[in-house]
Amino acid sequence: MIIAVVPGSFDPITAGHLDIIKRASDIYDRIIIGIVVNPSKKPLFSLEERLKMVKEEVAGNTAIEVDSFDGLLVEFVKMHGARVIIRGLRAVSDFEHEFQMAQLNRKLSPEIETIFMMASPEYTYLSSSIVKEISQYGGDVSGLVSPNIEALLRRALAKPGEGKELDGYNGPY
Ligand code: ADP
Repeated sequence: MIIAVVPGSFDPITAGHLDIIKRASDIYDRIIIGIVVNPSKKPLFSLEERLKMVKEEVAGNTAIEVDSFDGLLVEFVKMHGARVIIRGLRAVSDFEHEFQMAQLNRKLSPEIETIFMMASPEYTYLSSSIVKEISQYGGDVSGLVSPNIEALLRRALAKPGEGKELDGYNGPY
């Protein structure tokens, strides 16, 4: 039984992520989606929100599990009894960073292999940040994320006074 980990920020999860996850689950026996707790970029969605949304997206597939990690990816991989890390490659610009991470992870744990999957042509331009940017300016992201994520984005990016940003606000204004 070969278990593979698909790590990422998933802020939010897009059709491009789901494509890689589906293709990986067609090859490996079990997939663990590893959500990075503390990405260097400040996430729009909290860890709890990301865990919930990713679980909902993959709920139909019992071979996929969702978990989060804070620390070394290779430790998370070992903890789950996995030996493969799956990463998606969209463009040459992804390569340098991915190559560096794969080499570093191999140095830390030579028994763990990083496997790269080329993005499907229809998703090469797609990233979580692009989706956030389009949503922020009121653009249509249907087809890029699920209807559930579209609704979550609308709520999270609602202007002050219209939604989430004022929840729990204790300031003087
Ligand atoms: P990270 O911050 O670790 O890059 P992301 O959530 O942005 O996390 O991405 C997680 C993984 O999914 C990465 O391997 C990334 O290359 C891949 N990925 C992201 N968007 C796409 C896409 N449109 N097509 C294929 N792979 C993608």
